[in-house]
Amino acid sequence: MTQPRLRPPPAIQGICRTLEAAGFEAWCVGGAVRDAFLGIATLDWDIATAARPEDVQRLFRRTVPVGVRFGTVGVLDRDGVLHEVTTFRHDVETDGRHAVVRFGASLEEDLARRDFTINAIAVHAERLEVRDPFGGRADLAARLVRCVGDPRERMREDRLRALRAIRFAGRFGFAIDPATWEAIRESAPHLGRLSMERVKQELEKVMEQVASPSGTLERYREGGIFATLVPALATAPATRFRAIDHLARPGLTGRPHRRALRLAALFVEPGQVPPRDLERTLKALKYSNVEARAAVALAGAAGALSWPLDPALGEGMLRRVVARVGRLDLPSLARILWAHVAAATDGPVPDSARRAGRALYRRALRIAWRDPLTIGDLAVDGDDLRRVGVPAGRAVGETLARLLEAVLDDPARNTREALLALASVEPGSLGPR
Ligand code: ATP
Ligand code: MG
Repeated sequence: MTQPRLRPPPAIQGICRTLEAAGFEAWCVGGAVRDAFLGIATLDWDIATAARPEDVQRLFRRTVPVGVRFGTVGVLDRDGVLHEVTTFRHDVETDGRHAVVRFGASLEEDLARRDFTINAIAVHAERLEVRDPFGGRADLAARLVRCVGDPRERMREDRLRALRAIRFAGRFGFAIDPATWEAIRESAPHLGRLSMERVKQELEKVMEQVASPSGTLERYREGGIFATLVPALATAPATRFRAIDHLARPGLTGRPHRRALRLAALFVEPGQVPPRDLERTLKALKYSNVEARAAVALAGAAGALSWPLDPALGEGMLRRVVARVGRLDLPSLARILWAHVAAATDGPVPDSARRAGRALYRRALRIAWRDPLTIGDLAVDGDDLRRVGVPAGRAVGETLARLLEAVLDDPARNTREALLALASVEPGSLGPR
């Protein structure tokens, strides 16, 4: 915890100087101060000030009304980077979801409405004077997430804090203070009041910010949070959460496919057919259509496998798995399956298993880019079938599906002649499937 790390960047110092020159107290607050004490570099410095939003808008040339009603004005620096400046405020009314805030508070009152002691430290941008009325530095040193004030009351005011506490603990490898933990557990049955958008955002932040999220996910479970918000995860095997530790973190700079993979993996259980309402569960959790579709496909393909996977998996079976997940998502499926192998292994995965896994993946890749796997890949189409007498309507689709099964068993059958011959054979007499 060295002092120089506390020094905010020049743009922040400049904004604070302008505010103070106009007679308004200004302090750096929130996550950046916490991170600075932890020695973590951060870009997002938030400023709290006695100035009202209209004062801030008057004092700076370029501003953005980020959330004026709540006291937040964005100030653009010379490089066009936005910095949030928020008026000191205190909550006058809370309902577990929203707060009515009033301006005209002191710095101490503003810090008192913040959620955790580690998030309630203020630093003066130039004097580097620290205001830490709730012992945030001591809790940083003790590696502890603790509510500011009475935990039960604070959790009642805003139910999201239960999720935030668990996220911060996971992100920094901190413990949760026992009274705060008790309050989280008491909060759990009331979390249904939260908007699912905010819940999804929290989950995404966990996937981005926490290197190994399994501990965090287990805490959600122990705290009763999944039971209320995502019952499907309350009973997930521990290996499924541990598998996510083995999937690369998207980081804060994007990598949406990595984030999607971690989010999908929450619902993928190899060897176990996914619940029929999985898509509904994901939609309720505000997964996007793309995320939900990918997760359902991955869960279906992984679920159809016999697990643990036999490296000598037959070609027909392998082709069906690849067909099910799709060529483009095959690498994602492989990553998730491998993560499950790693999660189920005590220590490093033995070389022999690594080699077997790689060989299997190579076979799957070859199949993916060489063999016919979809109805679109068949050497005949619906028109061809109607021409040889298959009645228009459902029969066409059913026949194509039957032909695809035959081709998945043996890709050599994918010729016009062979398929038309097969098409005229009664279903059921196709031979072994
Ligand atoms: P991150 O690095 O995830 O952004 P952060 O601490 O900056 O962490 P923000 O959500 O950006 O978190 O919030 C900024 C600050 O606002 C917090 O540090 C905290 O002081 C306060 N805060 C945010 N959300 C709440 C809340 N739900 N209840 C009370 N205070 C909050
Ligand atoms: Mg922040």
